[in-house]
Amino acid sequence: MINLPATPKQPLSLIYLDANATTQVLPQAAAAALSTMETLFGNPSSGHVTGLQAKQIIDETRQQAQTIIGAGNGKVIFTSGATEGIQTAILSALQHAKTTLDSSKKYCLLYGATEHKAVPESLKHWNKILEINAEIKAIPVNELGQLDINFIAKEVPDALMICTMAVNNETGVYQDINLLDQTIRANNKNTAWMVDCVQALGKTDLNLAKTSIDYAPFSGHKLYAPKGVGFMYIKETSPFTPFIAGGGQESGLRSGTENLPGLAALNVIFSMLNKATKNTFTALKTLHLFRQQIATALTQAFPEIVFNHSFENSVPTTINFTIPGFSSKEIMDLFDAANIRVSSGAACSSKVTGSFVLDAMGLPNWQSESAIRMSFGPAMTQPQIDEACTRIVFAAQALKQSCLTVNTSITADKTELEGLLQFKVGGSCSWLYVDKRTKSAIFIDPLPELTGRLQTLLTCQGLNLVAVIDTHGHGDHLSCRAQLTDDLAQQQTDMLGWPVHSKTTVIHGQHYPYILLGDKWLVKVNTPGHTTDSTSLLLCDPIKDSTDELVVHYTFCGDLILMDSLGRTNFSCSSAAAMFSSLQLLKALVGTESLICPSHDYNNEFTTSISAEISRNSLLAHVMNNEINIEDFSVQKTLMDTDIVDQSGRKIMCGDLIGDCKKASVREYNSHSLAEALKQPNNIKFIDLRESYEYTLQHDKNFENNVPLTQLVEFMHQHKHNKQQQLILVCRSGGRSQLAAQTLLRLGFENVGHLKGGYALHQY
Ligand code: PLP
Repeated sequence: MINLPATPKQPLSLIYLDANATTQVLPQAAAAALSTMETLFGNPSSGHVTGLQAKQIIDETRQQAQTIIGAGNGKVIFTSGATEGIQTAILSALQHAKTTLDSSKKYCLLYGATEHKAVPESLKHWNKILEINAEIKAIPVNELGQLDINFIAKEVPDALMICTMAVNNETGVYQDINLLDQTIRANNKNTAWMVDCVQALGKTDLNLAKTSIDYAPFSGHKLYAPKGVGFMYIKETSPFTPFIAGGGQESGLRSGTENLPGLAALNVIFSMLNKATKNTFTALKTLHLFRQQIATALTQAFPEIVFNHSFENSVPTTINFTIPGFSSKEIMDLFDAANIRVSSGAACSSKVTGSFVLDAMGLPNWQSESAIRMSFGPAMTQPQIDEACTRIVFAAQALKQSCLTVNTSITADKTELEGLLQFKVGGSCSWLYVDKRTKSAIFIDPLPELTGRLQTLLTCQGLNLVAVIDTHGHGDHLSCRAQLTDDLAQQQTDMLGWPVHSKTTVIHGQHYPYILLGDKWLVKVNTPGHTTDSTSLLLCDPIKDSTDELVVHYTFCGDLILMDSLGRTNFSCSSAAAMFSSLQLLKALVGTESLICPSHDYNNEFTTSISAEISRNSLLAHVMNNEINIEDFSVQKTLMDTDIVDQSGRKIMCGDLIGDCKKASVREYNSHSLAEALKQPNNIKFIDLRESYEYTLQHDKNFENNVPLTQLVEFMHQHKHNKQQQLILVCRSGGRSQLAAQTLLRLGFENVGHLKGGYALHQY
C-alpha cells in the first residue's frame, strides 16, 4: 500500500505521463542541438570546413539510425517527422502503382483500423490527387487490437498498398510483424507495405531488412529529440518518389536544408539507444515492472478501474484505462490539478469524443469515451515512477473528499454540500437541491448516467432523498428515478415522481400542490406545451398568506424555456397553444428575475431568467409583453420547430436555438493586470471555478473562494443583490471561467472578468 502524503505545502513537481504524444528533449540532446546552432552551424552542403563538420553530424546520425532499425542495404532519409514519412511512402507507392494499373481490375488500399489518422487521411488524399480511385478499406482488429489476418489474406491480392503500424499510440498494442509479413507476401508479392514505426522506436527491437517492409516512418519528438525532425526507412528495391524536390539534399530524395540541430539531438538519442552511453534508457524488463507498479497504484486509487488493453501484447510504456463513473475530462482535470499530465485517447484527436482505436477493438462506448492514456518513455526512472504512484493515490483521495468515490474512512474532511447543484451530461441537466440543516435533498430531471454518482454522494453526505421528480416524460433519455427511489418505495407518486398526497396551497386564487424541503417549498405548476405532462417546479419561500407575493428562488421548468430557445412543440403530445398559456402563467407566478433551471443546456449557458431571455428571444418577448396572440404564436412556433435535429443530425434536440447564442465579451486578465488587481484585494472577490477535488489538490492562495461550476447557479442566487461586486474568475485553462463569466454578465452581474489561459498559463 502507498502511504498518502500530507497536502503539499510546496507546489507539486510535474509528473509527465504523456510520452506517446511527445517527450521532453533530454538535456544531452538539447545541448547537442544548441552547439550546432552556436558553433557547428554550417550548411552541410557547403564545401568549407564548417560545412564539412555539419555534414559529418548528418552522416553519423544516419549510420546510427541504420544500425538501430537494422536497415541493412535499405536507405534512411531524414524528414520533418513521421507525417512527412507517411506522405513520402504513400506517394512513392501510389505513384509507382499508377504505372501498372490494369483498367479492368478493381484495386484497394488497406490500412489498419487503429492506425494514426495521418495514415487513412494521407491515403485518401493521394488516392484522389493521383486519380488512382482505389477503394480504401480498414483492416478490422480483434478485441486485443490485433489485425485480422484472414481479412488481409482475402483483400491483399487486390491491394496496391497496405499500411499497418508496429505499435499503437493509444494502447501500446504491437502487431506480429512476422505473421503479417508471411500473410501479405503469401498473397501478394508486389504490394507496397508501410509500417508506421513511430511508437516502436526505443521500445521494441527492430530489424527491418529482415522483413519485406517497404517503408517505415519514424519521428524524433516521440523519443526525446525535438519536434520537426524524423526519418524514414526505404527498402533498397522499393519505388521512391521525392515528396519534396529542390536543392538535391539527401541525395535528391528529400530536398531542403537539413535540420541540423534536430539531427544532432537525434544523434545523441541514437547513441543512447545503441548503448554507447549506458544507463540513460531503462531496460525493457524494468519498464514492464514500472507499468505494473503504476497499474497497482491505479487499482488502489480507483478499485473499479478497467484496463482497456491487455498487458500481454502491448509495449510496457503505455497504459490505457477507464474509471467507471468518470469522464476523461474529469480525470484529466483531476490529474492536472495534481500536476500529473495524462491524455484522453490520442492527443491529436482530443476534440473527438470517444477513441476510434478502442471503438475498433469493440469496447463499449462508455469505456471508449472515458478512456485515459498514461504513457512514459524509456528514460523513465524508478524515483519518478514512485512519485507518480504516490501522486495518483493522492489525487484519488481528493475525489473521495468530494464524495465522488465511496470512502468510509474519510468523514471529517469532506466538503459538505448546500443549496443547488447542476449536473450535466452532454446537453442535458439534472438538478440536486440540498437542505443542509435537515440533511434532505430533492433531485430533479434525473439522468441515468448520474445514478451511481448520486448514490455515492447521498451516502457520503448522509443525505435523505425527499423526492426524485421529472419535469416531464423526456423524449431523449430515460429517467433514473426508479433506481434512485428504492428508499422512497412507500411513497405514492404520479408518473413523474410527484408525491400524490402532497398538500396544496393557493396562489393567485389557484390551488397548487407543494412539498416541503427544509424551510423551503417546492410547488408544482402544470405547464403543458412541450409535452402534455410538462410541469414546472418552483423552489420558493413558504407562503403564509394567499395574498403573499411568491418568493421563488429557482424555477425548474423542464423544456418550457431553454437558453436562447423555447422547448420544441412538434411531438405528437406537444401543443404550441398550450405553451403560450404556460409561458404567461409562469411569468405571472415567478416574475422575470427568478433563475430558470431547465432540463437542457445545449450551449454551456448554465441558467437564465425570463428577463434575460426576453432581451434576446423576440418570440418569447412578444408572448410575455402580450404583443402576439395565441394563434399567431402557434403558427410561428410550429414553423420554427420543423425538423429540429442537432448538427450531427442524430440526437433529439428539445429546443432549437433562436438567436446565435452570442456570448458577452468578458474582461480578460493576464498575469500583469491580475497582479495589479491583487493589490486591492478588498474590493474584489477572487473565485476559483474548478471542482472542489481540483481545488483541494492545489490552488493559488489569492483565489480563496471555490465556486465549482456545478454550484455556479447557487452562487448567482446568493449574490443576486450584489451584482456590482467585482469578480475575477480562474480555472485550469480559462475555458470554464470564460463560460461562467459570460453567464454572470448575461444575468446582470456588472463587473466580471476572468484570467485568460487560467492556471495553465500563469504561475503564481
Ligand atoms: N504515427 C503515430 C503512431 C504517431 O503516434 C504519430 C504522432 O502522434 C504520428 C504518426 C505522427 O508523427 P509526427 O508528429 O512526427 O508527424
